[in-house]
Amino acid sequence: MTPKRAVVTGGAGFLGSHLCDALLGGGWSVVVVDNLLTGRRANLAHLQNDSRFELIEQDICQPFDVGRIDYVFHFASPASPVDYMLHGIATLQVGSLGTFHALDLARKYGAKYLVSSTSECYGDPLEHPQKETYWGHVNSIGPRSVYDEAKRFTEAVTMAYHRYHKVDTRIVRIFNTYGPRMQLNDGRVVPNFMKQALRGEPLTVYGSGKQTRSFCYVSDEVDGFLRLAKSDEHLPVNIGNPNEFTMIECAQLILKVTGSRSELCYEALPQDDPKQRCPDITKARTLLGWEPKIDLETGLRLSLDYFKKAVAEETSGR
Ligand code: UDP
Repeated sequence: MTPKRAVVTGGAGFLGSHLCDALLGGGWSVVVVDNLLTGRRANLAHLQNDSRFELIEQDICQPFDVGRIDYVFHFASPASPVDYMLHGIATLQVGSLGTFHALDLARKYGAKYLVSSTSECYGDPLEHPQKETYWGHVNSIGPRSVYDEAKRFTEAVTMAYHRYHKVDTRIVRIFNTYGPRMQLNDGRVVPNFMKQALRGEPLTVYGSGKQTRSFCYVSDEVDGFLRLAKSDEHLPVNIGNPNEFTMIECAQLILKVTGSRSELCYEALPQDDPKQRCPDITKARTLLGWEPKIDLETGLRLSLDYFKKAVAEETSGR
């Protein structure tokens, strides 16, 4: 029997590449379409000899066609605050034009479709924890709006293709996720603190450090994607770890896991930085039977070798 074929846009990125591994592990053949703006070939290097795998370097803001496919996983977008602020226009384009093209592909082949959305749709939330029914508190003209509004538009187009064209769509709202293959310099808190701790430099806590995030280990997150992919739920589903940490607690845990003696130093809080973020995962629990299994300390330990290697490679100039 011919294996089912999936396309993963943004498959060279952190989450996209882990999704590719999981799909191949589940017997799929996989084609990645990625313009490598923030994705990296290195994330897929281990798959290059797998005959079921293909990487096409292409910008999905142009129409694209990879032939018959059974599933479209639309994961292309810069996703860290540093990346999307650097590539603001490209972020808006991939969330809008790129999403139309990904949906057109699913429609053409009658394929199922799952798109990565984000907790940023909730903005700096006034409701806590955030349920999928919360409409959000988003600054449409602030520096983060290039990402927040692109993803809110992505959700709107996806629902429109579902309603008007009957495309079989799913939307996952992803909360902070970490693990191997995160870019060392994407500015997110886990890679920043890991890098600083491993180099013996001060850990840069922004603001008071009392703002909270909840961190999901990548294998848990991808398990949530696959469960949602198999479901018939068309409305957004939160996938994230509901255990909330302040950034000071996160820094202290990273010092513990790395055995580092670095100190904490305090820097200015970026504009519109959400004060609290934590998913309500009741829907994922009841609908998908999903919940995260790996706590933050365990996940940081599982990520340590990757970050040590990445820091060593950067130090040696590779
Ligand atoms: N942060 C920090 N120090 C850093 C990087 C980030 O204190 O070196 C804070 C940031 O202000 C935010 C939280 O960590 O409150 C998570 O930031 P990240 O960029 O990882 O993702 P976000 O959840 O903001 O999209």
